[in-house]
Amino acid sequence: MRTIEELTEQVRNNGGKVTAQRLLIWQTLYNNRTHPTAEELYQKLKQGSPTLSLTTLYNTLNELASWGDIRRIDNGDGSIHYDPFVEPHVELVCLICHKVVDSQSKPALLSAPEEMDGFKIISHSEQYYGYCPVCRDTFNQIKK
Ligand SMILES: [Zn+2]
Repeated sequence: MRTIEELTEQVRNNGGKVTAQRLLIWQTLYNNRTHPTAEELYQKLKQGSPTLSLTTLYNTLNELASWGDIRRIDNGDGSIHYDPFVEPHVELVCLICHKVVDSQSKPALLSAPEEMDGFKIISHSEQYYGYCPVCRDTFNQIKK
């Protein structure tokens, strides 16, 4: 995973703003592997930065996402989740409780091609859908 210093430099290179609030957003997001929603991040950030607005948070998340520095995940619960871990990895998505877990399994495609059908490729992800260990039990009991 990228360090805050590397990200700061990248944002500057992309012409983005580096402010104290943005640094706080990045730090909170980059230490988080739980695939949080913007709302969850906002609740956490408000404690350290009471003046932070949801608009600033969304603008910062959208900017990072458009540069490929974070990824948006739709896990089926109606909210967009954010993942700062953009190196190729496998995600397991539960169709019942909508939990997203990073798997230790290697993705089938370890590095994405630089270009595909005219697209410049920035990152890629591999998602598998099914039932997590908890929901799997519930599902088996319902079937009996
Ligand atoms: Zn589940």
